[in-house]
Amino acid sequence: MKLDSLETLLVEELRDLYNAERQILKALPKMAKAASSTNLQKGFQEHLQQTQTQVERLDKIFTDLGKSPKGKKCEAMEGLLKEGAELLEADAEPPVLDAALIAAAQRVEHYEIAGYGCARTYAKLLGHGEATKLLQQTLDEEKRTDEKLTELAVGSINTEAVDPEANPGKPSSQRRARG
Ligand code: FE
Ligand code: FE
Ligand code: FE
Repeated sequence: MKLDSLETLLVEELRDLYNAERQILKALPKMAKAASSTNLQKGFQEHLQQTQTQVERLDKIFTDLGKSPKGKKCEAMEGLLKEGAELLEADAEPPVLDAALIAAAQRVEHYEIAGYGCARTYAKLLGHGEATKLLQQTLDEEKRTDEKLTELAVGSINTEAVDPEANPGKPSSQRRARG
């Protein structure tokens, strides 16, 4: 990979984010299915819709820059999502699994926040006004998603996980049958 200019770096960062978002599109339905808390399920489903829009924003940016979105695999997102997928295999108490799903999802959001923050800043420096605006919109969504996950965790889910037997959620057999 040749990094000869900030413009080249911007395109590389955007390709990484594009690939990461497409991996996330596949993972979010599985995470929603695994969640016991209906609020957490809704949160994942809502973020799935947002993620579809985020991919469309990136498509628009690539078109405007005259570049292809293809050509890069985000190894980090693959690793983060692999750790998330391991949770789905675990023999977990439902409220504890919900807490774990939030922890995994927040890692994903933090990665995206770092990537979009940098890409937004480069786009701005390079005078790509429309790209800057679109990247800022996505950055704001990722930050809000991270905050909502914290609210769900701190508001109820972590506390329920302290005493799983008092908060059984869906029995794990039911989750397996659905999976
Ligand atoms: Fe995203
Ligand atoms: Fe990456
Ligand atoms: Fe996200």
